[in-house]
Amino acid sequence: MTDQSQIDALRDKPIPPQNLLIDGELCQSASGATDDVISPLNGALLTTTPAGTKEDTERAIHAARRAFDDKRWRGMPPAARKKIMLRWAGLLEANMLDLAVLGVRNNGTEIGMALKAEPGSAIATIRFYAEAIDKIYGEIAPTAGDVMGLIHKEAVGVVAAIIPWNFPLMIGAWKLGPALAAGNSVVLKPSETASLSLIRMAELALEAGLPPGVLNVVTGEGKIVGETLSHSMDVDVIVFTGSGATGRRLLQASAASNMKRCYLELGGKSANVVFADTKDLSEAAAVSAAGIFRNSGQVCVAGSRLLVERSIHNDFVAELAKAAAAIRVGDPLDLTTQAGAVNNPTQLAQNLAFVETAQAEGGTLYHGGNQILQDTGGYFMEPTIITDVAEDHTVAQKEVFGPVLAVTPFEDEGGAIRLANSTDYGLAGGVWTSDLSRAHRMVREMRTGVVHVNTYGGPDVTVPMGGVKQSGNGHDKSLHAFEKYFDLKTAWFKL
Ligand code: NAD
Repeated sequence: MTDQSQIDALRDKPIPPQNLLIDGELCQSASGATDDVISPLNGALLTTTPAGTKEDTERAIHAARRAFDDKRWRGMPPAARKKIMLRWAGLLEANMLDLAVLGVRNNGTEIGMALKAEPGSAIATIRFYAEAIDKIYGEIAPTAGDVMGLIHKEAVGVVAAIIPWNFPLMIGAWKLGPALAAGNSVVLKPSETASLSLIRMAELALEAGLPPGVLNVVTGEGKIVGETLSHSMDVDVIVFTGSGATGRRLLQASAASNMKRCYLELGGKSANVVFADTKDLSEAAAVSAAGIFRNSGQVCVAGSRLLVERSIHNDFVAELAKAAAAIRVGDPLDLTTQAGAVNNPTQLAQNLAFVETAQAEGGTLYHGGNQILQDTGGYFMEPTIITDVAEDHTVAQKEVFGPVLAVTPFEDEGGAIRLANSTDYGLAGGVWTSDLSRAHRMVREMRTGVVHVNTYGGPDVTVPMGGVKQSGNGHDKSLHAFEKYFDLKTAWFKL
């Protein structure tokens, strides 16, 4: 168990200027330029990261290509690769608290959640894919007797992994784990506002024995580093988690360059549907509040739309507001905090603007709605509930990515399904009911990649994670994630 004094001992630890990792070497950008890293906890300068350029990014792509072509990683016996990846997981575990605190100082997630969701889940993910390395087989096709069809699984090549700021280690591991386990080389591009723990994670991979050039890290702006990766003729696959707007640009860049495959994990506007027959409405209210307000709503699967059966609407919303009021928002490095900082001032301004628009369009501000704790110099916002939200309101249709819940009543199951499916998104959802048949019907009818039943959140690496509609394509996590990182090759023999 971590105690507060261990965290406090790390909260002001100086962070040296950061490096790029290219071809096994830590280096600065060729231009020498750097970006300031500002902490969302207090607005203070934490350190600098290299402002990666087009040339830096191309150098990293070439290093990855060389490492792939000379087979220094994919040509190693599977058991040897597995050993290195397990050693990496061990080093991550040995540095778990450092990684968690570093990440929180950089991105603002409350430490209680960060410990589990960040290094905790990253370690489990790297181990899961390391263990799989020597358990993946090719296939023999059921052909006629005079021929034989073999199906090989081959590493795809150079993978560019572009990561957002909300859970850099967890989401980073979702890409790095299967990409490296499958034998690929990777160029990793962390978010501008949450790179520090991910850079450290990559340094530890090198320390674990990953050969130079197999994992490269280029920090810097999306419009420079990200665009160079997406337009490259030498990147085979892009795996991306982030906003729909960036996802769209990646698809365009792919079409304009080498038609590289793009796997996109995008945003959501997930409906959490509460029926009047729910067994424990107080528990449903508490879990629903956590499902939108933890990490200040910066969770892609956050249950940001509450659809509630009209007969219990008023009582349930009152209960939910009580739960929201009880959520401790504040110092992300305090173990008792339940919702940390908003990652950056632009996101905070956007959250507040959504609240204004929601009211202007006819919604009622039922709870919260304000920036708080300004005296810290950090970026904090109250859990916010908007009621009287109609299906076509902006706050019902667009992802806020902040602690803002939109509430809409429904009359019956058909109405709930229609409302749940009424956005362009299809990432996740929730259903609360004591009627088992209804729960199964809802799971079938909701057009999302994930549905939670009588709970919200929590699945581990063993199940796939991905969206439908404009929430993306492809899946992270589980053995299905390998589908993005292997090519199938048929070998056809005449016997
Ligand atoms: P973002 O799209 O702004 O940035 C994500 C990454 O893309 C960053 O590394 C950024 O530098 C890079 N990028 C920006 N412009 C680029 C460009 N033109 N070309 C290439 N790369 C570029 O997203 P964000 O604000 O960091 O993260 C929030 C979004 O991520 C939300 O929409 C959220 O729902 C989504 N998200 C989705 C999932 C999921 O699994 N579906 C998980 C977490 C977050």
